[in-house]
Amino acid sequence: MSGKFKAPRGTFDIVYPDSEKLERILQIGYEILIRHGYRRISTPIFENTEVFRRGIGEDTDIVTKEMYTFEDRGGESLTLRPEGTAPVIRAYLERSLYSGGIPQKLFYFGPMFRRERPQAGRYRQFHQLGAEAIGSDDPAIDSEIISIPDIYFKELGLRKYRVVVNSIGCLNCRKPYIERLTAFLESAKHDLCNDCKKRAKRNPLRIFDCKEEACSEALLKAPLMPDFLCEDCRAHFDSVLEMLKVLGVSYEVEPRLVRGLDYYTRTAFEFIFEGLGAQNAVCGGGRYDYLAEALGGPPSGGVGFSVGIERLLRAIELEGACPVVLPRLDVFVAWIEGTSRKQVLEILASLRRERLCADSDFMGRSLKAQMKHANRLGARFVVIVGGEEQKRGEVVLRDLDSSEQWTVGRSKLAQKIREALGEQWGETDG
Ligand code: ATP
Ligand code: MG
Repeated sequence: MSGKFKAPRGTFDIVYPDSEKLERILQIGYEILIRHGYRRISTPIFENTEVFRRGIGEDTDIVTKEMYTFEDRGGESLTLRPEGTAPVIRAYLERSLYSGGIPQKLFYFGPMFRRERPQAGRYRQFHQLGAEAIGSDDPAIDSEIISIPDIYFKELGLRKYRVVVNSIGCLNCRKPYIERLTAFLESAKHDLCNDCKKRAKRNPLRIFDCKEEACSEALLKAPLMPDFLCEDCRAHFDSVLEMLKVLGVSYEVEPRLVRGLDYYTRTAFEFIFEGLGAQNAVCGGGRYDYLAEALGGPPSGGVGFSVGIERLLRAIELEGACPVVLPRLDVFVAWIEGTSRKQVLEILASLRRERLCADSDFMGRSLKAQMKHANRLGARFVVIVGGEEQKRGEVVLRDLDSSEQWTVGRSKLAQKIREALGEQWGETDG
């Protein structure tokens, strides 16, 4: 029964129990974000292509190589969102969200699309949980944004990661730096890979992103951005670091850390996990003081982070962190052949009204096969409807864990199950 089609390359289905773990992990994340004053925003899955061309930058890998761009039937160029920040700023400007007070603190969750080479930790559709604080250039908000994923990962029980931070300056100090870097790269060009030779001309900062060993080696003596920061950027960076200490975030300054997107300024950071191989950044983010202007709005700085959920799930698995209690079927309603289906359905519905997690047979199975099915579903109890008991307004209730069995009046059934479940909770609590 394998059917004819497969999910497209680089995409996958999220099926239980993974889907249930994902839900739980998101709940924990939302709760932390809400606790920090962030509120949810959902933007469309696709945007006008220009939102990304301008918001991410013409020379970035994302825009030049990775976007899913298509013309719709009206001839409009649309793009499946490759990231969440540009759409959130688009919405912030379009809907004048600043009138609700700044900074606007927003968070989002959803799928992102990039046509990358699929490999472990790198997919064409993946999910991000991210947050943006828009409208403030206070270094304290940068440190808040860095501290939230740190709190999140710790609450999930994760330990094996490092927080790396850097400042990539502003247009003023980046310009002279880029000149120096370009001169250096010219002298080192024979040691660079072909991609980096191109980057050296179009987007030299990106060279630090290259994963080729030869390039990393060639860059050992490269001039570094933190040595070129202007007074304001230096002061901003120093304050961010100071406040990270106040917030109890252990960080390392990594002067070679750059970000993949053009609109970033000043603070840049990543959370690097052990054991994830080459795709070891579970969270990345930074400040983007030029993004709002790039999208045609008034200057308004912002800072945000984005957690890659697939990589997060893998990290959780590797560390055996965050054991999730999966939902379990409380009760399976089985029925003896010849029993009125209406009565079976009534019992099923009444149990569900009582907030019990209940299911039944819809295949006309024999009682024996129904018991087997109940086991496969992981049911705790089975109710057997039919026979003599049915005529007396009673049913048989069996505890599949203890094999105990009772005959219970129909009106007492939910209560009896609750009691039995409660007893068990009592035991595990004590
Ligand atoms: P990388 O350097 O790994 O390509 P990036 O700099 O492109 O990451 P961002 O755009 O900052 O990543 O996205 C934030 C997070 O989203 C990353 O830290 C990562 O966890 C996740 N992510 C990015 N691209 C992918 C992908 N193709 N598949 C799965 N997760 C991804
Ligand atoms: Mg990338």
